[in-house]
Amino acid sequence: AKMWILKKHFEGFPKESNFELREEVLPELQDGDVLVEAIYFSVDPYMRSLSKMWQKEGDVQYGTQLAKVLKSKDPAFPEGCYVVADCGWRTHTVTKAKGSAGPILTRIVSEWPSDIPMSLALGSLGMPGLTALYGLEEVCKIQPGETVLVSAAAGAVGAMVGQICKIKGCKVVGSAGGDDKVVYLKELGFDQAFNYKTVPSLEEALKKASPEGYDCYFENVGGPFFTAALKNMKPGGRIAVCGAIATYNDTAPQMCPYPHHEIITRQLMVEGFMARRWRHKDEESVKRLLKWMKEGKLKTKEVVTVGFENMPTAFMKMLKGDGLGKAIVKV
Ligand code: NDP
Repeated sequence: AKMWILKKHFEGFPKESNFELREEVLPELQDGDVLVEAIYFSVDPYMRSLSKMWQKEGDVQYGTQLAKVLKSKDPAFPEGCYVVADCGWRTHTVTKAKGSAGPILTRIVSEWPSDIPMSLALGSLGMPGLTALYGLEEVCKIQPGETVLVSAAAGAVGAMVGQICKIKGCKVVGSAGGDDKVVYLKELGFDQAFNYKTVPSLEEALKKASPEGYDCYFENVGGPFFTAALKNMKPGGRIAVCGAIATYNDTAPQMCPYPHHEIITRQLMVEGFMARRWRHKDEESVKRLLKWMKEGKLKTKEVVTVGFENMPTAFMKMLKGDGLGKAIVKV
């Protein structure tokens, strides 16, 4: 088996030298074990933001893969079935289905249609799609007719946020870091979209896109964008704090203008969340997303990097915003 090790903790933007490629001989299977082979890997922002919290130097880089069960001594995961596996950046793994911190293997829902690529189990029909759904339904509790703002809107989570908003009868405004991304957002049905890198003023761009303000903000970036969004919220607005990618590579904290005044005077609800809070709903939620996709209400794009040896490159490209869609690696 090949694996990528986190050799050195990240300082600033990740570099190739933070990782090391190694090989190991796998152990024999014991009762309850399965051997899985990775087909696709997901590269996600949390691998940067939670790195120091979740792993130490010398660990296999954590992460999720879509894998096939090659050998099994666990009747719940027979040979030939497909799983989403939290095995880290490893081509082959011998593991039990459940670890001390929760499930390691999750079977792909049995209703998975043959014409929908299984790699989407790592994107629109997996963790990022579920994050969008839970942030909107459980945190913001969006209602038809409301106006929702989402940042990093052309990414894995953001593109799903926008499309779910349209399914639910909301108006949606998205920001992204490229003119091609803005065109894509319009194709997805966003009512308004703008390139946050080229507008003269974020606050004005947000005002122009929705002069009446925003009922909800799906926050993915943090930094100055958050402050600009606060200043455009309607009284009683709700903010789902999902991520802060603009800050993940900082070596010193960004000084943001004092946000409390806006939160207090506009009486905003600001709630941080992790999608795993609703893990018990995942199976039912994936079926719902699948149904919407079959009905043509959800579209998706993937940025596919080929080759396990290119995992760090794909990860860094995703953090930079290179490419349009969910970043994955095909082994
Ligand atoms: P994306 O597919 O959106 O990829 C990351 C994107 O972030 C890039 O494409 C880039 O798009 C944008 N970006 C990079 N740097 C900056 C910056 N300085 N300012 C603004 N945008 C930037 O990733 P995901 O959809 O997977 O994740 C989106 C957010 O959701 C992240 O913050 C992530 O941490 C969070 N998240 C949280 C979860 C939870 O449970 N709370 C679960 C999953 C994700 P662009 O070209 O537009 O700048």
